[in-house]
Amino acid sequence: MMSQAEYIPFAVPDIGDDEIAAVVEALRSGWITSGPRTAQFEQQFREYVGAIHALAVNSCTAGLHLALAALGVAPGDEVITTPLTFCATVNVILETGATAVLADIGPDFNIDPAAAARLITPRTRAILPVHMAGLACDMNPIWRLASDHGLKVVEDAAHAAGTTCQGRRVGSGNSDAVVFSFYATKNLTTGEGGMVTTPSPELEERMRVLCLHGISRDAWDRYAEKGNWYYEVIDRGYKYNMSDVAAAMGLAQLKRLDGMNARRAEIARRYNAAFVEMPEVETPPERADCRHAWHLYILRLHLDRLTIDRARFFDEMKRRGIGCSVHFIPIPLHPYYRKTLELRDPCTRALAEYPRLLSLPLYSKMTDEDVERVIEAVRDIVVQNSVRQTVSFDGLEATSAVEAGG
Ligand SMILES: *Cc1c(COP(=O)(O)O)cnc(C)c1O
Repeated sequence: MMSQAEYIPFAVPDIGDDEIAAVVEALRSGWITSGPRTAQFEQQFREYVGAIHALAVNSCTAGLHLALAALGVAPGDEVITTPLTFCATVNVILETGATAVLADIGPDFNIDPAAAARLITPRTRAILPVHMAGLACDMNPIWRLASDHGLKVVEDAAHAAGTTCQGRRVGSGNSDAVVFSFYATKNLTTGEGGMVTTPSPELEERMRVLCLHGISRDAWDRYAEKGNWYYEVIDRGYKYNMSDVAAAMGLAQLKRLDGMNARRAEIARRYNAAFVEMPEVETPPERADCRHAWHLYILRLHLDRLTIDRARFFDEMKRRGIGCSVHFIPIPLHPYYRKTLELRDPCTRALAEYPRLLSLPLYSKMTDEDVERVIEAVRDIVVQNSVRQTVSFDGLEATSAVEAGG
């Protein structure tokens, strides 16, 4: 058995001295809520992704809700999204009073545009695709659907900080809003935080008002400039603004994002090279025209070639000192949505894929030794629990059945 010290957790944030120094500096500055650092983070993030406007928020969940609310999504509307996502994606739709409509995933694990097209009704108001694991959705057919049917598009880019597709970064495209997460486990973290990008000055303006109570100007304008006390509430807003302490961390993380993502890609390459040799498992989907952000490495088990199920595989990894996870339990399987969501698409692929998904540790702080240990653990479990044992010699392959159970 492994000792606690040797345990490889599923996720570890990559916080360096720069982040610590930046946070201390923000604390010492005396300005700890939204202020100059938040404004600077918005500007630098906007420039990084190539967006026209960016608004910092206190979570991706808040940003998604803010975007939908600012776009006027309301009771009676329908919003089409994917069943293979975190519950927040669906909850924000329900929060507006709209109906969440699930369209099945395609082979890339992202929403299938053809499935989405079949679900469009006169009530459909928006499409909410998710860039699963950091692999960009094929946005062109989604944008075409949106322009053909007059729909809004809000992207859940929680996994996609740094993803590029067809030469441009997620966040810079034709969607009404793109929302990133800076939660503790994400590629760029501020502990809790998020960012919304948009090409629309009107939407940016409306989101800025709704982001802070519906007040027409934020605290920076109110107190830092001219010592002005006057403000006006022009709408019923929310409390979704980012703090300067979080923004300080974000600025330091943004400088390192490409480097951290390069390390993730390097680890994913090592995993792929090892697992492609194992017929009992399948490597994650990729696209030639897309630079994956590798937020997650989702290994797919060929359950028909293994004598154990995913739960047992997970336990065997844990027994070898390696933390894994599952992304995601499909939305239709949760008790709340089972009770309240009508399934207009049976979500066949998402439900069929779910029992064989296993997310392996993948983060920039993993050492080469950690990576090797994960690979060795998978190899060991696969060898011990394979339905068939394959022996190769001199270019020939001899296959022999072995007892089930390992
Ligand atoms: C993490 C995550 C969110 C929520 O992000 P928060 O910043 O924690 O609100 C939303 N969608 C997906 C797909 C996520 O993975």
